[in-house]
Amino acid sequence: MIPRRVPIHNVSSLDDVAALAPNDPGGSVLIFDADNTLAPQGAPLDQFAALVNGAIDRFEALSGVDRVIVLTNGPERGVPRMTARGNKPWTTRRRLGLSRDSRIVVIGDQVLTDGLLAWRMGGPFLHLVIDEDGEAARQAAMRGLGKLVTALFFRRHR
Ligand SMILES: [Mg+2]
Repeated sequence: MIPRRVPIHNVSSLDDVAALAPNDPGGSVLIFDADNTLAPQGAPLDQFAALVNGAIDRFEALSGVDRVIVLTNGPERGVPRMTARGNKPWTTRRRLGLSRDSRIVVIGDQVLTDGLLAWRMGGPFLHLVIDEDGEAARQAAMRGLGKLVTALFFRRHR
């Protein structure tokens, strides 16, 4: 099977995400990554929780958004509204409680986990990296690998 490609947009802030989020009622599901997407790498727990909860509140308030999921592959960090150990990109709609026809938008910093989750779910990927300078070598290497596969899975806009 030749996979169909999904749109990728490079964005630089949550304001950009809000501008691109569908605003027709009846809505989309936004799936956010947490680390280096909503919170800088290694953020203290109280700051991390405030940023994650703030983003959920902000995007849940948009009329075109049915549901906001924050999904990290990392550990639980005392934020009950976040789903930890998320097994991206392999998690399923069923595991996330999503119907087959919900429209999905994924927002994240890593093509290999967040981006491929968007691709598997057939929705656009908004590529948001908030702290490229502060990230660990492993994260940077993973992003480099992600660049190599981008053209296979995504069509670029702007
Ligand atoms: Mg991340």
